[in-house]
Amino acid sequence: MEKSMDKIVALAKSRGFVYPGSEIYGGLANTWDYGNLGVELKNNVKRAWWQKFIQENPYNVGVDCAILMNPQTWVASGHLGGFSDPLMDCKECHERFRADKIIEDFAEEKKIELKSSVDGWTQEEMRDFIEENQVPCPTCGKHNFTDIRQFNLMFKTFQGVTEDAKNTVYLRPETAQGIFVNFKNVQRTSRKKIPFGIGQVGKSFRNEITPGNFTFRTREFEQMELEFFCEPGTDLEWFQYWRGFCRDWLISLGIKEDEMRLRDHDPAELAFYSKGTTDIEFLFPFGWGELWGIADRTDYDLGRHQETSGQDLTYFDDEKNERYLPYVIEPSLGADRVVLAFLCAAYDEENIGTEEKPDMRTVLHFHPALAPVKIGVLPLSKKLNEGAEKVFAQLSHKYNCEFDDRGNIGKRYRRQDEIGTPFCVTYDFESENDGAVTVRDRDTMEQERIKIEDLDAYFAEKFNW
Ligand code: ATP
Repeated sequence: MEKSMDKIVALAKSRGFVYPGSEIYGGLANTWDYGNLGVELKNNVKRAWWQKFIQENPYNVGVDCAILMNPQTWVASGHLGGFSDPLMDCKECHERFRADKIIEDFAEEKKIELKSSVDGWTQEEMRDFIEENQVPCPTCGKHNFTDIRQFNLMFKTFQGVTEDAKNTVYLRPETAQGIFVNFKNVQRTSRKKIPFGIGQVGKSFRNEITPGNFTFRTREFEQMELEFFCEPGTDLEWFQYWRGFCRDWLISLGIKEDEMRLRDHDPAELAFYSKGTTDIEFLFPFGWGELWGIADRTDYDLGRHQETSGQDLTYFDDEKNERYLPYVIEPSLGADRVVLAFLCAAYDEENIGTEEKPDMRTVLHFHPALAPVKIGVLPLSKKLNEGAEKVFAQLSHKYNCEFDDRGNIGKRYRRQDEIGTPFCVTYDFESENDGAVTVRDRDTMEQERIKIEDLDAYFAEKFNW
């Protein structure tokens, strides 16, 4: 079975995972809204991240910082100076492109080895490469481009009533800076000692030139970031630790080894302050895409904030009687991107009939911890609703459940398969006598009879993660 984005996008829309944004007004380019199932899936993904990275982790604590920050933050972080993309238009077909991306794609196609990562090239170097190689426009194939100009990716707005420069504020392009500026606060109030980490889940905004591939790249998105502070010299060990930890998190939630790869940046590609960077990539139906960037950022960020703010951000290590600026390891994951990865990974079409008499079902094999609906409660007949409603009340106290009494039971199972519900509980005529229900497993389709009074314990074990 070939997974296609078209099918996944269609299912996402028809079953209430993701709708086009502002649809009744004709939409707003590349904005998406999570629907009744999408919000559950995304919340479960964020909860699973928080559980492993914050709640169960002895080193880490969380924060939730403001989206609008003092603009000095962006001077210090480099976003006001350098956070821009090199843009270029085709004079023939008027398509707009990122010059760096055109070069990378061209080099990959022609198997040309680049001297270093295009990220670090000057505008002139890009211009020269495009000229020397007569790089064609990816849309019309002609070679006739405008000059390259830099375009800042931060969204601007105004705080207060006057729309002038001194009231300009920016929507944060990443959640990390809220953590850095609160490093001292959190260290003091949590009484943590190095090594320790601070995590945050929240919205970020980037005025991307080429959003696309459904929710993979959007202008408004959510990130789940951890900044892990450690003693200089121990950083590479911690970098390896978090690299493995992130990988294991994906695997524990059902991502398979062969649809994931860890891509280490080679020295030429590394940002100048970084001692190591790895991207965890996932094989989407449209190709490999970055999910998670894990970087050893040394003391660059705290150093920049110390310099710009004039505040002392060093840490005093009372065991060693030493003061230093901690190094930081940053695993940064896009919530929407990883939700899309889980959706693509879960999607399947299966023949559950025979070869002669095929019987196809579409099924989402979500890990139980991520499934938007955990249990479907299905009375075999509407006459049994009263008893089934009691089971629903009992289970929905702990789990997001769906009650469905419409259509024949086979169709109702298919409906739950299609939205990835791991278990269905069927209340039948026998249930009135034996106080038991049939529990059907989505993946094996096996059924077992369980006493209603034992359901809590049964599901507690099934959903333990
Ligand atoms: P890309 O190269 O794909 O633009 P990046 O290297 O700029 O990503 P980072 O700045 O490292 O990304 O951001 C960390 C993570 O945030 C990414 O790995 C991705 O999961 C997520 N992310 C970044 N930009 C977007 C976006 N426009 N839409 C959705 N998720 C994003």
